[in-house]
Amino acid sequence: MRILQIIALSCLAVLGGPALASSLVEPSLHVIAGGPDRPRIALTFDACEGRTDQRILGALVDNRIPATIFATARWLSRNSAAVAILQAHPDLFQVENHGARHIPAVDRPMSVYGLAAAGSPAAVLAEAQGGADAIKAAGFATPKWFRGATAKYTTTSLAEIRSLDLGVAGYSVNGDGGAQLSAGASEKRLLSARDGDVVLAHINQPGRTAGAGVVRGILALKARGVQFVHLDDGGPGPAATAKP
Ligand SMILES: [Zn+2]
Repeated sequence: MRILQIIALSCLAVLGGPALASSLVEPSLHVIAGGPDRPRIALTFDACEGRTDQRILGALVDNRIPATIFATARWLSRNSAAVAILQAHPDLFQVENHGARHIPAVDRPMSVYGLAAAGSPAAVLAEAQGGADAIKAAGFATPKWFRGATAKYTTTSLAEIRSLDLGVAGYSVNGDGGAQLSAGASEKRLLSARDGDVVLAHINQPGRTAGAGVVRGILALKARGVQFVHLDDGGPGPAATAKP
């Protein structure tokens, strides 16, 4: 085991309205630190729906920077050129599961950031299994990690996802605020990443300025000597995921 994943859960307010007297959880994730001489950071990019940010994909390929892409079945079906680039660089890109239809993996009827949640345990399982099936059908390795749309869950939906032998991939640095941040703010977020951090950004929003800042931040981290790693670079995958 070269990387240890540490999950800490923080409770978040329910976003679905006053009738839902419960809370959602948002796991955080770190990789093992590499030390001051060779800090380690894992870059993760959600490919929710939409298109491909070639600024980011091109920078990763050109600079030989490894990253983990969390893709939905929808994104895979609509971005065949990007999929071919990912497949051409298996040493750089680990493709993991962002669900079938980009539905929050929350097993109660509610709205999360304006997205209707899966709403039941069966629908959570369908979202996670559907994403895994699409990744395998596209020719990638069987995914070991799942990150649901919005990255929020219930404690019971976390267990449902793990019952499929999928680890739940949190993060520790929100790199682009859902691709809503400016280029400058995104660059700053990237530069705030420290040894052991897992950075989340988006690779499906080519029309937004955030992506330009994400690229600048990545290149600046590289210039600092950061070692970019996959989530389970030789590690144990879901088995290392702590239970809430
Ligand atoms: Zn997403």
